[in-house]
Amino acid sequence: MTAFRRLQETSPTGQRALVRVDFNVPVQKGKVSDNTRLRRAKPTIDFLRKSGAKVILLSHFGRPEGQPEPKFSLQQVIPELEKILDSKVYFATDCVGETAKAAIDSISFGDVLLLENTRFHRGEVLDDPVMASKMASLGDLFVIDAFSVTHRAHVSSFGLAAHLPAYAGLALEYELDHLGKALGNPVNPVLAIVGGAKVSTKIELLQNLVTKVDMLCVGGGMANTFLFALGKPVGKSLCEPDLAEMARTIMANAKASNCEVLLPEDVVVAKEFKANAEHEIRLATNVAADEMILDAGPKAVMALTNAMDRAKTLIWNGPLGAFEFTPFDTATVTAAKYAAELTQAGKLVSVAGGGDTVSALNLAKVTKQFTFISTAGGAFLEWMEGKQLPGLICLAIKQ
Ligand code: AMP
Repeated sequence: MTAFRRLQETSPTGQRALVRVDFNVPVQKGKVSDNTRLRRAKPTIDFLRKSGAKVILLSHFGRPEGQPEPKFSLQQVIPELEKILDSKVYFATDCVGETAKAAIDSISFGDVLLLENTRFHRGEVLDDPVMASKMASLGDLFVIDAFSVTHRAHVSSFGLAAHLPAYAGLALEYELDHLGKALGNPVNPVLAIVGGAKVSTKIELLQNLVTKVDMLCVGGGMANTFLFALGKPVGKSLCEPDLAEMARTIMANAKASNCEVLLPEDVVVAKEFKANAEHEIRLATNVAADEMILDAGPKAVMALTNAMDRAKTLIWNGPLGAFEFTPFDTATVTAAKYAAELTQAGKLVSVAGGGDTVSALNLAKVTKQFTFISTAGGAFLEWMEGKQLPGLICLAIKQ
């Protein structure tokens, strides 16, 4: 992985630090219901406060259409953030212009100020150079501290770097160091598990992986499209027939690259998509017209755990079944527990990422036993796809 500029290599004393965090947190009835992302920002905020910088936080929240909308105001996160930081957090009702400038002027060095949702300005997502230069005039240095926003070339996650010295904050540094260590130069054989709902959202990922990994296990709803492409009956299962040709191309590319593709030999089927629906285990060749495949079967899980035994590195994105409904979480949970065991025994380096994957691994209670789990959804996928992420390019040290 390319070397990047780190916050700890600078001395931010007496500086105004514009810090891009990801405070796009779930809020229920006006209260933050999961404060993970706020907690992640604490080390960088504490570091800057102790160094005597003005800490000016930038974030998006939801998807407003480029103008202020009260329901997307970041003001809602302030009470929870103050609790986490154990300190007063000031707030400005705009992220650029006079309001923001006056608020920054009024705070002392060591104080924390949260600016209003960056997406209240249309220029944010367009990486508008005028907005970037206006926002940059509010600070002396720019810190990106959320891996989850680095795949966006937006003003607050990229454009500011054209005007200000840019550094990775401590949370981003932690994530990049761990990803780099595990996957930068992975120990072979590498096994990738790609599951989830649809092939259409992960085509590039699959195409990139088959040329890089030794084994690829396709799971979840995506496996149905692959089974369909091989002429197997999938009944009423989630399936993308239009992508059958693409699935065949991916399998052909895998073969050409010596990548073994694992598809489920058996599956769990039901007639209803709900928890505890009546279900049966069937060979993947035997699915009836009125049945839906909702999970991988025991033979498929056995084939996957055998592949894990042969692997030295595991990359995992996407569940193997409709894990939100018992018992269709069985394959995902069993495989996750096995991967965790191998990791703890020092036999496997395991890295997983993406929103649903993290929820599924939480369900299996193995998140602490994996080598590393990235909570970044889109950015983790794009990183795995081998894409250059704008928010990382702008931090790279030119060799
Ligand atoms: P993704 O966001 O693409 O990782 O997809 C995650 C979603 O895929 C979860 O909500 C799962 O319930 C769903 N999923 C996985 N396997 C299946 C399946 N066989 N049929 C329907 N949905 C599935």
